[in-house]
Amino acid sequence: MFIADSLGLDFLNSIATPVDTPVDWIDDGDGLIDWLGQAKLVPPDELDAMRARALPGELDKVADQARALREWFRGFVRKHAGRPLTANALHELGPLNSLLERDEAFRQIVSRHGESGEGLALQRMRRWPSSGSLLLPIGEAMAKFVCEEDFSDVKACEGHHCTMLFADHTRRRARRWCIMAVCGNRAKQAAHRSRLKSRQ
Ligand SMILES: [Zn+2]
Repeated sequence: MFIADSLGLDFLNSIATPVDTPVDWIDDGDGLIDWLGQAKLVPPDELDAMRARALPGELDKVADQARALREWFRGFVRKHAGRPLTANALHELGPLNSLLERDEAFRQIVSRHGESGEGLALQRMRRWPSSGSLLLPIGEAMAKFVCEEDFSDVKACEGHHCTMLFADHTRRRARRWCIMAVCGNRAKQAAHRSRLKSRQ
């Protein structure tokens, strides 16, 4: 369900209604770990280590916090979507800045094997002192989204009952659907049915 073209919005889409019933991909600790792995926000070996050393229920509590953070952020994004964000929005971002403040990021020189040859690169890393630190890369993704995305391009899918959000990066800014094959086709079929009805 990574369709938003922006990880900050993909986080909001971690609860959605792909068919009829809402699915929350982070409704417990295991779900959160899986989502973080799929989002490539935490290295797989760190996730394994976190899972191995967590006390019973510990990761579920972090997932509770992640959902609370998500729903707070959804309110912020929905309020501001559709027009550029101004510096006035800063006073609403206290919860996010408090999360970012806890970060223990650092840099390391690592070897690089790329298309342009081999060499050295400066890579951002992060310490994972507690299960709560799993929220830090999510906070970073949200903060990047807030600071780098043009909120004029943030849209909600026009699908009936669909709650998915995305950043419209198409050249004509004409994107209407989360996934064309899902919501776009449903809308087409509904329009087709109503045309048939009006002909009868
Ligand atoms: Zn949709």
